[in-house]
Order: sequence, then C-alpha cells, then structure tokens
Amino acid sequence: MPLVPTAKATCGCCNTQSRQPDLERAPRHGYPDLDLRPASPLREQMEHWIHQCPNCGYCARGLEVAPAEPALIDSPTYWGVLENRRMPIAARRFLAAAMLVRSTDLDQVQANQMGAAWMCDDVGTVQRADGCLRFGDLVNARAMAVECRMLAAATLRELKPFKEMVGMWRAASLVDALRRAGQFGDARAECLELLDQPRLGEAHRLRFELELKLIRARDIARHSSEECATPERRELEGRLQADRDNPIIGPVGRVSTRSECSVERVPPTSATPPAAPAGTQQPDRSPAAQPAFPVRGRLLQ
Ligand SMILES: [Zn+2]
Repeated sequence: MPLVPTAKATCGCCNTQSRQPDLERAPRHGYPDLDLRPASPLREQMEHWIHQCPNCGYCARGLEVAPAEPALIDSPTYWGVLENRRMPIAARRFLAAAMLVRSTDLDQVQANQMGAAWMCDDVGTVQRADGCLRFGDLVNARAMAVECRMLAAATLRELKPFKEMVGMWRAASLVDALRRAGQFGDARAECLELLDQPRLGEAHRLRFELELKLIRARDIARHSSEECATPERRELEGRLQADRDNPIIGPVGRVSTRSECSVERVPPTSATPPAAPAGTQQPDRSPAAQPAFPVRGRLLQ
C-alpha cells in the first residue's frame, strides 16, 4: 500500500471528519497523452484525486464542498456505481463524483469520467495494493475503460458546439476517447468536421491529422501528444527539460522527500486530489489538466 500524506477533512454532506490523502500537485514532466492525461509524475497521483467520506459515501474532489444534490448519495444508482466490483475502486469514485456534479458542471463530469477510464487503463500497468492481477481482471478492465470513455464521449457531445480554445481541448478529448473505445467511424467523422474548421490552429490540425492516421490503422492504444508536437512546442519542452536537468535551477515543480512530511497509511476508504501547478512549467490549459483541486499536503517520492 502506498504511503501518502493525509489531512483531516470534514464532509460537506454529513459533517463527519475523516483523514483523506493530502497531496501537493506534482509537476508533469513531458507531453500529455492525446486524451489530455498529463505526464508523470502527475498522472500517478490520479487515484487519489477523489475523496470518499467513510460515513455517507460522498465522493468529490474535496469533501468540504457540499454536494449540489445530496439526495443522490442515498440512491441505489449511486451505490450501484460505488459497489461495482468489476471496476477499480479509484474508477468507481471518479464515476460516483461525476454523478454528483452532472447538474452543475458538465466539464467536471467528463473529466471525472475520463479519470475513471484512466484508472481502468492503469490496471496491470501500475502496481496496486488490492491483490494479484489475473488475466480476466485485465480483460475486464479494458472493457470497463471503454465503457468509461463512452460515457465521457457522450458528455463531451453535450458540450458542443466546440468553440475557442476550451472547445478545441474538448474536441481533442472526444476524438481520442472515441478512437480508444474503438468507435472509429464516429472518431473519423468528428476529426473531419474539426479539420474543416477555417480557424483551426496548427497544433490542433497536427493533432487531428495524427488521430486520422491512428483511426485508419484501427489503433486503440495510448499515444502521446509528443507525436504531433509543433517545432515551437518541442523547443519549449526541450528548454524545460534542460532546466530540470540543471542542478542549480533544480527540478520543475519540486516534490518533497519522505523525511519532509508526516505520513501515514491511507485506509482503503480514502482518496485524494492534487494542487496548484508548480515551478516554471508551461501551464496546461486543457480542461482535464486543470481540475480545481484543494491541495495542502505534499506528495511522497
Ligand atoms: Zn459524509
């Protein structure tokens, strides 16, 4: 079981106090995936992004804020999601949290649904504390990841039309979700529609052209946006990497060492979010990379 710092949190739904993982947002070193999942080490924090109250089951990116629809937490649908053992617990929490913000924040809904897909992707690739992995678990996790991506795609379509910069990030997320879910026809149609936009920027044009290539190859694998980065972006990433390697400047977004923070084992009922961007790294303005996480503690190395 990983060691992470925790802090007391009071549930905004039932007022129960509990200890929840309390992480300082890690930096991301490198390019995000095409579906906007950030690079390491930020991507490894994700299983802690959603907190769960051990008393009432409220799941959110920070329990202090009361749910918009508290009655939903008592519903069989909500508990059906949380008790779906075919899915990793972190994925269930993402989906439960998505249910609770549907009436107020569709962007957060799709971000949580994508988060659930990423947690399913991690089965078999991240060492987990919840038992040995069987081949059936892996096959099932792939199916669950597709299910979550289809949920996210449906939510993203509700956010159409895609306009301005935020709209383009939503579009990028939608196309990649459809491709990775094996919905090649729909993914291609979305791509062609986006490529037809007269004011499409160079970075997005390269991204959608790469998606078309992957769709033609019927490729459902994870791909990095490095594969379609513009020369300017490559130069920027190169400079950032040089800074990270500079012993005087030090790492971008410092992560504390174990001796610098108090830690304790996190009970299985808790989960957490990251915090403010650190260091000199270029901010990632994509919706999925900008969750409003209340973060106070520090991540362990
Ligand atoms: Zn509660």
